[in-house]
Amino acid sequence: MNKSQHFKLIVIGGGAAGIFAAWSAASHGLKTLLIEKNKDLGRKLLISGSGKCNITHTGSVEELLKGFPKREANFLKHSFYRFSNFDVLKLLYLYGMKTYTREDGKIFPVTNKSSDVLNVFKKILADYEVKVLLNTNVQEIKSESDYKFIIKTNDNYFESEFIIIATGGLSYPHTGSTGDGYLFAKKLGHTIVDTKAALAPIDVSPRFPDTWKGIAIRNGSLSCYLNNKKLIEENGDVLFTHRGLSGPAILELSRYAAEYFVKGDLYLYYDLFPSKLYEEVDDELKNNFYRNPNMKIENELKIYLPNRIIGYFLNKAGVDEKKRCNQINKNERKRIVELLKRLPLGKIEFIDLKRGEVTAGGVSLSEIYPKTMESKKIKGLYFCGEVLDIAGRIGGYNLQAAYSTGYVAGESVANQVKSRLLK
Ligand SMILES: Cc1cc2nc3c(=O)[nH]c(=O)nc-3n(C[C@H](O)[C@H](O)[C@H](O)COP(=O)(O)OP(=O)(O)OC[C@H]3O[C@@H](n4cnc5c(N)ncnc54)[C@H](O)[C@@H]3O)c2cc1C
Repeated sequence: MNKSQHFKLIVIGGGAAGIFAAWSAASHGLKTLLIEKNKDLGRKLLISGSGKCNITHTGSVEELLKGFPKREANFLKHSFYRFSNFDVLKLLYLYGMKTYTREDGKIFPVTNKSSDVLNVFKKILADYEVKVLLNTNVQEIKSESDYKFIIKTNDNYFESEFIIIATGGLSYPHTGSTGDGYLFAKKLGHTIVDTKAALAPIDVSPRFPDTWKGIAIRNGSLSCYLNNKKLIEENGDVLFTHRGLSGPAILELSRYAAEYFVKGDLYLYYDLFPSKLYEEVDDELKNNFYRNPNMKIENELKIYLPNRIIGYFLNKAGVDEKKRCNQINKNERKRIVELLKRLPLGKIEFIDLKRGEVTAGGVSLSEIYPKTMESKKIKGLYFCGEVLDIAGRIGGYNLQAAYSTGYVAGESVANQVKSRLLK
């Protein structure tokens, strides 16, 4: 083990938040060390957006903040204004990266390659002379006094006046985010809000047939019920997987379902006609049956349902799939409409934190100054990114939170160093 080395600032964790914190501090003139336990930076960034990287979301800061629950949005407000989606895109553009915006507001690199985004981030760190230490696992952080930290890694000791913890959450642990930051924070006296899955697939029972894997039901509305009471509703598609359900509506709903999971049995239902009343759907079917009297009901339903699930659907409705439209009686039609408006998707069995795209919960926001990201408990200690109790919607919001809080943390440390030098 070498003699301990001293740095003004050490950033722990080389994901999006740590990269932006280190760059921001360095761009304000601070010599900065960035420590990452993996053999390279940004492993989670590489798998983001299915390898395409949904860099951020379009719109004003106020619109961006709508991607987070109110309490988290209030906390993020300052950092989003200080370093916005526009600022990230400007930085990427200065480094030659072109981006495009999809109709749904998601922004991607034109090359559709997350590795291109990561390469730009690495180039920025190199240009600003951030010292990057890879393959280095921080094992312990000790606060000796205000502005004095000792960091123990797998093979060394470091001393610093400022520390930024950017170790991410607990999801997709093979990327390096194994919750170390929560342990460090707790030992340093911080409260950790219970961690739960967010943007996660949901396992249900009874299991759907394996042959349904890859089928999607679209443009409907997903509801979650506890004791016959509707808890939450999310619009969007649902995808059948080999273990249960995924797709945008499931992912968005998972965070709230994970919260209520301990309170009782949760059941999911899908409304295939969210903008129509029961009577309107019934009228539509009546008209269709009248226009196509000799069409088999299984073919008639193809306009509403994927082929492979129609047999199951009619079985559930107690209707013989070989019947023709003019043979369907009023009660049978009623049961079909009821299912179209409230298709049961099963009981929630498991929402796996590790399979969530983000971790809800983390370092309590009430113990962090939102304008600087500094700890209210220990001077010189900062947090940014997913290690904080923040989890946004799908659409580039989570990376934006990482860049913005990272930027503000780095800038605030640089400002503090300057003001301490002036004293
Ligand atoms: C499959 C998937 C797809 C996603 N797609 C998108 C998307 O397209 N757009 C979007 O906005 N968000 C997306 N997200 C969410 C987004 O990637 C994260 O919210 C964001 O990367 C969090 O950044 P972070 O820097 O806070 O944490 P992380 O990216 O998790 O980085 C933390 C880093 O700290 C390192 N570390 C941890 N402990 C230690 C230690 N003890 N010592 C040293 N280093 C340590 C880790 O190795 C890791 O590199 C996706 C997430 C997943 C899992």
